[in-house]
Formats: sequence, structure tokens, C-alpha cells
Amino acid sequence: MIFFGTGSANLGAVKTRNITCQHCNNQNTVFINIYRRHAHIFWIPVFPINKSGSSYCTHCKEVLSPKEMPEGLKMQYKNIKGNAKGPLWQFSGLAILACLIGFAIFSSGKDKENTQVYLSDPVVGDIYEYKADNGNYSTMKLKKVTEDSLYLSLNDFEISKKSRLYKIDKDENYPEITYGYSKTEMLQMQKQGVILDINRD
Ligand SMILES: [Zn+2]
Repeated sequence: MIFFGTGSANLGAVKTRNITCQHCNNQNTVFINIYRRHAHIFWIPVFPINKSGSSYCTHCKEVLSPKEMPEGLKMQYKNIKGNAKGPLWQFSGLAILACLIGFAIFSSGKDKENTQVYLSDPVVGDIYEYKADNGNYSTMKLKKVTEDSLYLSLNDFEISKKSRLYKIDKDENYPEITYGYSKTEMLQMQKQGVILDINRD
């Protein structure tokens, strides 16, 4: 399957001035067509590559590539090509990419911010994602909060990928037994990267 390729946009035909068709000798019948090529991925234009074009005579239909143009016509072609502006949609892919990156930065910043807030103001039911000593990931559920301590139930299961933690975050996986951590201790664990994330419904 081909998912990368090129396409082009026709930027329109411009009439030349004082050019006589070298083929049929008619005046003011020669037009110049400009195209802008773009790269596309899955048929979404990503960015423009270059401009090209040709001349054609409306009377005798002769089409000339830039190489075949006589000097006077070639000069007008270069001018018209230089001034031709391509449509913005040829940048669609770049715009989409910029949005995705922007959103990713925004949400990851928001996530870190939330973890800080949740840690300083814990609420029963918060889910703490952490990295275990053996390299696996698991979660803890906050069951009780006192003045200076947090009591958490440790998930019975671990999983090898952080992104799959949602699979083990089920009520029945949290036993009744809780472990107490001081708030300073917990803060320390977050700074050390043991606590990765805190989720709140
Ligand atoms: Zn002609």
C-alpha cells in the first residue's frame, strides 16, 4: 500500500503579454499554467515541494515546458511562477501535526500539574500509579487520609506496561489491608519518580 506520494495543485492560468505563439503566430493566445507540487501522506497534503508550469496556446494547443520556451516567454513564465501563491491546504498535514504536538504538550503539562495538586490535597479514592522495584507497574488506592498520613491499598496485580495500568485498576483488585505512608514520604516518592501519576475520577 502506498501511503506516501506527491500531488499538485493548479494555481491557475495567467495570460502572457505581447507574446506571439511560435507555432501558429497568433498574438495573445499564450497562457501560462503554474502548479505547485506537495508531498502527501495517506492523501493528506503535508507540505509543498516546488512549483512548475508550462505554457499553452489556446489557438493551436501547443504546450511548452519551460525548457522549450523561447527567451521572452521564459522570462514571463519565471515572473508568474515567482508570484504564484499556492493554497494553504497544501500545509494541512503540518497544521494537523502542529495541533497534535500542541495538544500533547498541553495535556502532559496538565497531567503533571494535577499530580501535584492531588498530592497536596489528597481525596479518598485517588489512584496512585507507581513503578515497582522489579520494573513492573501497579497502582494503589487511597483509602484514608489523616493529618499527616495516607493509607493506601496496594493492587494485587502488576503489569509490565504503564499504559496498560487501566486494565488492573479494578475495585476487586484492591484488598482491605492498607499501608500507611507519611505525606512527606509520599512527596519524596513522587520526586524520586516512584509515584508516576495520580488519577482522580
Ligand atoms: Zn499557437
